[in-house]
Amino acid sequence: MLCPCCSKKNYIDCCKPYHDGQEAPSALALMRSRYSAYALDLSAYILRTTHPKSPYFEKDRKKWQESVHLFSQTTRFLSLEIHGWGDDWVSFTAHLEQQGKKVLLKEKSHFEKLHDKWFYHSALSLDTL
Ligand SMILES: [Zn+2]
Repeated sequence: MLCPCCSKKNYIDCCKPYHDGQEAPSALALMRSRYSAYALDLSAYILRTTHPKSPYFEKDRKKWQESVHLFSQTTRFLSLEIHGWGDDWVSFTAHLEQQGKKVLLKEKSHFEKLHDKWFYHSALSLDTL
């Protein structure tokens, strides 16, 4: 199976090792693996790669995981387009479909390291820039 992150690589050679517990070596690798985790409904991965100081971090992990799961269940992940990246950021457009409607999610995501591991911290919507 091709990886949902649109790398054109097989899932086992792309994001699967990170989903299985290997550390993503860069912000870009983490971003791709989070997109494919959403696509594959791996909500636990989304929770454990979110920075504890992220505005999206929720104390009620059960409720949080449920909402991530619901998002995955009600969204089709059509494709991921990466526009640019640096050490701690990635800008991208995610092409999604919800309730039969195409949705574009344009974002510049910000990542931070904690104990030498990359975490998703926050995002700027590029639609508002
Ligand atoms: Zn991938």
